[in-house]
Amino acid sequence: MRLPSPLPERWRILISEKALRRIITGLTAVFLATLCISLFSQLLQSRYSHMTEQNRFSALHVQLAAQNIINSLASDSAGGQTARPLNGDLLTQSLAANALDEDRVFALVDNFGLVIATAPAASKLAGERITDVLGTTFTTDSNWQNMRLFTFTNGDSAFVSARDLGNFPGSLIVMQKRSDLLAAWWTGVIRLAVLFVVTLLVLAMLAGAFHWQAAKASEADAVLSIATERLDKALDRSNCGMWDWNLAEGTIFWSKSMFEILGMPPQGSFLSFGEVSARLHAEDSNIEGMVEELLRGQRTVFNREFRMRHADGNWIWLRARAALAPGDTADTPHLIGIIFDITAQKLTDKLSHDAELRLKDAIENISEAFVLWDTENRLVMCNSKYQQFHSLPPASCVPGTPYAVVTQSAKEPIVRQYVPTVGGEHPDGKSLEVQLGDGRWLQINERRTRDGGFVSVGTDITALKKQEERLLLSERTLMMTVRDLQKERLSADQQSQRLAELADKYAREKTRAESANRSKSEFLANMSHELRTPLNAIIGFSEVMQEQMFGPLGSEKYMEYSHDIHRSGQFLLDVINDILDMSKIEAGRIEMELTSLSLSSVITDVMRLIGPRAAKGKVDIVLDLPKACDIVADKRALKQVFINLLSNAVKFTPEGGQVKITVSKSRDGAKVVIADTGIGIPGNDIEKLGRPFEQVENQFTKSKGGSGLGLAISKSLVDLHTGSLDISSTVGIGTTVTVNFRNAPESAILKSA
Ligand code: ADP
Repeated sequence: MRLPSPLPERWRILISEKALRRIITGLTAVFLATLCISLFSQLLQSRYSHMTEQNRFSALHVQLAAQNIINSLASDSAGGQTARPLNGDLLTQSLAANALDEDRVFALVDNFGLVIATAPAASKLAGERITDVLGTTFTTDSNWQNMRLFTFTNGDSAFVSARDLGNFPGSLIVMQKRSDLLAAWWTGVIRLAVLFVVTLLVLAMLAGAFHWQAAKASEADAVLSIATERLDKALDRSNCGMWDWNLAEGTIFWSKSMFEILGMPPQGSFLSFGEVSARLHAEDSNIEGMVEELLRGQRTVFNREFRMRHADGNWIWLRARAALAPGDTADTPHLIGIIFDITAQKLTDKLSHDAELRLKDAIENISEAFVLWDTENRLVMCNSKYQQFHSLPPASCVPGTPYAVVTQSAKEPIVRQYVPTVGGEHPDGKSLEVQLGDGRWLQINERRTRDGGFVSVGTDITALKKQEERLLLSERTLMMTVRDLQKERLSADQQSQRLAELADKYAREKTRAESANRSKSEFLANMSHELRTPLNAIIGFSEVMQEQMFGPLGSEKYMEYSHDIHRSGQFLLDVINDILDMSKIEAGRIEMELTSLSLSSVITDVMRLIGPRAAKGKVDIVLDLPKACDIVADKRALKQVFINLLSNAVKFTPEGGQVKITVSKSRDGAKVVIADTGIGIPGNDIEKLGRPFEQVENQFTKSKGGSGLGLAISKSLVDLHTGSLDISSTVGIGTTVTVNFRNAPESAILKSA
């Protein structure tokens, strides 16, 4: 196959063909014009020469005839004979042999101007007066050497020459009509004209044939151009291009679409092999090797995929198919073929290859056995679980292996049970559960694929089955329990009835108790208040008596009694104050004034009160107080807490003992630890403490006295500060009371207060 000429070349040819056509047409026209002009000038020339020649002949004939007549007449005279008359015979005898050719007319004219005789005799001139014909310019002695042109009245024109007969009267005239004179010339003209017309016709036919051929060629070129354009478009649309590699010259013709595929501007249609190979990928540059094999006849077709660099720098995948074709000569072979842009296909191939790998990987990694068969029952793919499940040799798992071969080499599982699953029958397949010989359970789902093959997935459901069994067992147990429960429900209903009644009673009792407690608290608060007035009087008066402010008491016993009255009054006042505080707390009537205060300074204040007592009891006090340890609290309440705790510690620590007070910052606030080496509290009594009026009874505490409210008040006050009070103690070793204060926001404390 020969490729069509590249467009520019064809255009060149088209252009040269047109020019040639025009040139040939022009040359033909010039030739014809030249021919016409030369013919015309030649005709004019020949007409002139013909006329000149004829006139010369006529002049010679008339001169000769006149001379003959003169000679005849002169011989007559010389012989003494009577001169012959001037007549037609004399005229005819005097004329030369071919004098009458070309329709010449000779006339003898006498002295009177009358035409005596004419030759030929039948001429119209005979008997005519010659001046009537020729006008007055003619006289009998006119001797016209040259022919003269006369135009007659009837429009004819003729050449005339006259000779006088010398001594003899008369003249000889020769007359030749212009049309007669030119008759021979006209014949020549007609012959030439015919020749010219024939030449013209031949030339016209040749030009017509040439134009017809040229039109045909142009039409063929136009058709070729359209075909080429369509071919280019078709190549363009289908992303392929044509190439023609002249192996001898090393030039490669590229179709327009090839340039577009590579994003190159069309730069002529031919590229050198160097230009092409410069764009080839380094791994694909061994094309020449294939071409050599083609030339050696080792291969018949060039079919290769390779990469070329696009103008934007990316690599384009191309597939070239070509075959050897003879060139202009046997030793200039061409490699002609088509190139397809397969970049998109390559990309798709890669994507589908990746997708296939991913799919294979996914199928391989699922926990189920998977197998896929095609429409002709040949293996498409299976995973290793399927292979293990059927103990298949690797050779049987090659795609394309027929189903029969796979099943022959497979160890089918020993099925102990076959359970069709509920709704397992499906128009496109089935689902079933099988129990294998080794006790495992499998659920097998088989489905028809769209293309007519089928896919089978086997899932190990042993765990599910075991779970199912367990569920069945527990369902049975549950049913039994339900029955038992139903029985018990009846009695429970009765019990709940009773309980409801009891709860109702309890609620009523609780409300009553709460109201009684509230009344008690209110009563105690009022009563304590009422009691303090007379007690203050008793204490005051006993002090007066002790001081003997109004004179001596007299007896020592009075002094002792007044002392007892004061101590008992003081003790009673302390108890009443405690009761009053507790009642206030319980009745929720205590008012707190929160300020930021230093724990160390509060303890120091309390120590002023407790210190003398400790010294009296010979109890050593150790203080460990940091400088800055502030909390938000009610100062009076805080003092009361520490007075209670420290007086207990001092009170229940025998002589020589020690009380250590440590104040420290804790993670969320501050901590005060009061540790004594006192008598301690039995473990089972600790939890009772903090409840009002609870005292731990022993020989030592009996002697110490107390209301049993101190710890309860302290705990309640610490609780009101959103803190906590913890007691730990060992009998005979000592007691440690830890008070934790949290950095609670003021609002929280106020809310709880
Ligand atoms: P009282 O005013 O009777 O001391 P408290 O509530 O302060 O009431 O104390 C209750 C009881 O707890 C006391 O009677 C005592 O038995 C015991 N107790 C309190 N603090 C200590 C302590 N530091 N060491 C030993 N026992 C203590």
